[in-house]
Parts: sequence; C-alpha cells; structure tokens
Amino acid sequence: MEDATNNEICGWFVFNSGQVLIEKHTDGYHIPFGAQPPVPIPIGSTVHSIGTINNLPAKTYLIHTPVTGDESSPCMMKDLRASFDVLPLNEYKMAGKASQILNWDKNSRYCPMCGVPTTQVSPIAKRCPECRQEFYPRISPAVIVLIKKGDSILLVHARNFRGTFKGLVAGFLEPGETLEECVHREVMEETGLCIRNLKYFGSQPWPYPSGIMIGYTAEYESGNIKLQEEELSAGAFYTRDNLPEIPKKLSIARRLIDAWIEGKI
Ligand SMILES: [Zn+2]
Repeated sequence: MEDATNNEICGWFVFNSGQVLIEKHTDGYHIPFGAQPPVPIPIGSTVHSIGTINNLPAKTYLIHTPVTGDESSPCMMKDLRASFDVLPLNEYKMAGKASQILNWDKNSRYCPMCGVPTTQVSPIAKRCPECRQEFYPRISPAVIVLIKKGDSILLVHARNFRGTFKGLVAGFLEPGETLEECVHREVMEETGLCIRNLKYFGSQPWPYPSGIMIGYTAEYESGNIKLQEEELSAGAFYTRDNLPEIPKKLSIARRLIDAWIEGKI
C-alpha cells in the first residue's frame, strides 16, 4: 500500500474481474515489468506491495475497465486459471497471491463490528481504528486425497468441477477438525468408503478465490462406493490403462494422479 512514485523497476500484477494483464514477448507471455505502472492507476485504487518477482518488487492493483487485446496484441487480459498455461510458474503463483490480496482488500474495507473504515497497517494486515481488531487475508483450507485400491485409484466427478474430467475426493476443513479427520470424513460422506494409511503429499495455494489445497494419499480399507449425490455425479476405481479424462496440470489433483501414474506414490 504505497504510491508508485519512485522509478524502481517493478513487476506489475494488474487485475480486472479475475483477469490478469499479460504481455507478449519473444519467449512467450509475462506480466509487465517497468518503472511505471503499465496502465494508469484508477483514482481510489490501492497499489499493494506483495513481495518480489525475479528479485524485483511485485505490485498489484485493480483497474475498472479491462485492457482490450487478444493473442495478436502486445498485451491482453487473461483469466487467472488460464494464465497458468502461458505464464512462467513463478509469475502465475505471484498472480495468485496478488488476486488473493486484492480480494481481501475489497472485502475488508469496513470493520464488521463497528462499521467504520479499516486502515491497512502492513501488506497483509488491516486494523479498525475504533476497536483495534486486526484483519488478515482469510484462507480456506481444503483437503484432497488420492485413494489407492490394488492397481487402481478412485476418481470422481464432482458437480462443481469445471469440465467433464474426473478428479479426486476433496472438501473443506470444518472448525474443530484436524486435516486427517477431514479427509476421513469427506471420503466417508462423499463415497461411503473407509480408508487407511493416510500420508501427506503436498499442498498448493488455490486462489479461487482464497483457498489452499492440502493433498494426501490413502489406501482403500472397506466399504462399497455409495455416492453423495448432491456432491458427486460419478465415481469408480480406475487402473492406469483405463483412465478417463483427468484434471489439468494446474491442480494438485493432477500432480497426485501423475505421481501415481509414474509409480512414485
Ligand atoms: Zn471495529
């Protein structure tokens, strides 16, 4: 949160309606780098410092109207998810952080207790001047699990998936629950299966709009698949030579499935 008045080279993460501004270079797409903002900063729009990108300060702000352009233009707006396919990984990841900071900024303008405007006191903290309560970006944890049964894995289609692919059982952590309890509960609720030998695999920020996915592997223990129909429309065990369409490379679901295909887990 500062004025962009000095002439330091920065990486700029410029957003409008969930889309990030990207520039075409000879080696592919990048976010804009430069001493000045690539698009005028609208009045009332806050420039947030969000860390560093390629050892340069990373900054983000919202614009009210999108930059027009397509693949034939020097720059264009791209959906954050789709930017994964064209941006270097570190730029995509920082764009995700930028999106979460902008989302938090938009949703924390007033103290929910006092109704007065909050003040930003650090890159990731705001404070109410009346009651002194502090507000940080809220991150919603969700678990995701690859369940193995012999030489097959459980793949499901959740009704909220964007596409026809089949992925892994996942769900949001509830208050009072450990991550492991959450995995067991979600698997039981959504599929009726008991699992064992739960192992941590890895995690991934999921800025849609502000989550983190925590990935596990597990083994089938008992039960017959009984889908929770409000959540899942399909689910079955699949062997490596019989896989349906699987999630895109973007997600930790795909990292888990790829690790299993390669025999690493
Ligand atoms: Zn307050």
